[in-house]
Amino acid sequence: MSTAASIHSWCLTSTSTTVSPSNSLKNNKPTTLRPCARLGSSSSPSSPTPPPSLIQNKPVFAAPSPIINPTTWNEDMGKDYEEAIASLQKLLNENGELKTTAASKVEQITAELQTPADGKIGGYDAVERMKTGFVKFKKEKYETNPALYAELSKGQSPKFMVFACGDSRVCPSHVLDFQPGEAFVIRNVANLVPPYDQTKYAGTGSAIEFAVLHLKVSYIVVIGHSACGGIKGLMSIPDDGATSTDFIEDWVKIGLPAKNKVKSSLGSAPFSELCGCCEKEAVNTSLGNLLTYPYVRDGLVNKTLALKGGYYDFVNGTFELWGLDFGLSPSVSVKDVATILHWKL
Ligand SMILES: [Zn+2]
Repeated sequence: MSTAASIHSWCLTSTSTTVSPSNSLKNNKPTTLRPCARLGSSSSPSSPTPPPSLIQNKPVFAAPSPIINPTTWNEDMGKDYEEAIASLQKLLNENGELKTTAASKVEQITAELQTPADGKIGGYDAVERMKTGFVKFKKEKYETNPALYAELSKGQSPKFMVFACGDSRVCPSHVLDFQPGEAFVIRNVANLVPPYDQTKYAGTGSAIEFAVLHLKVSYIVVIGHSACGGIKGLMSIPDDGATSTDFIEDWVKIGLPAKNKVKSSLGSAPFSELCGCCEKEAVNTSLGNLLTYPYVRDGLVNKTLALKGGYYDFVNGTFELWGLDFGLSPSVSVKDVATILHWKL
């Protein structure tokens, strides 16, 4: 019972009841993230906590000199360094053919040793990049749309709440050309909406509560995407559920119902195909989870709110959008609704 219309590269589908397998994943390497630094708290419970010292009413680009000091050299380190250089020099004198290789490695080491003290990591000037970006935005957008920004200075009234993946390639404001003030956007790993849980998922819950009750958005759109590393992570969790990451796997397990559905219906398909299908099914799981929030259910019953699923395929440059066709009354329990959705989708 789906209808589809192609407009240029867009494939708009309404009230879809099935999700077709998507395209193969490419270049998705497994990643393992480990914490590289930890912060300790020095505040005492008995004394009032002073405001964070980094919050200042000063321009970011006029920030004071770097807080991180370069490593201090000591005498032993200098000796090791001189010995290493002497050995290298000896080696190069004995075998001149190594000079090209050595030059390239020295260049690499030089780039790696660029310290954060000069604001650059690996030679990349992030501060300058952001400064250039803001100057361009200010000149080309902010100053050319005074009416828009004057209106936004009074408040926001976005029509959309959007859940999108944190993936750097799928910014919904870029992909859907949302203008400032149009979309209240939540981005996380694999664009997942967890079920209502005041303890585990207060971050997402507060965003939904704020968007629906206070901003009064009209649409909540959950947008999945091609080659999603989060979904690949979900599909890679072993059947016994064992995890090795601090946060990632526990988070993407929100999509387990989608994974189970995909594996039971397409279990023998190639892994990349399973991932592509799960990228869409996980959107449906999130739409189902949205129904566990009482204000979302109320909005649907009162027809002040609609839910949409979306899928951005950046490999092929297409976007799909689908709606949900489900009966809902205030007397239907969340579990019943979730079951209906599960079977209908
Ligand atoms: Zn993703």
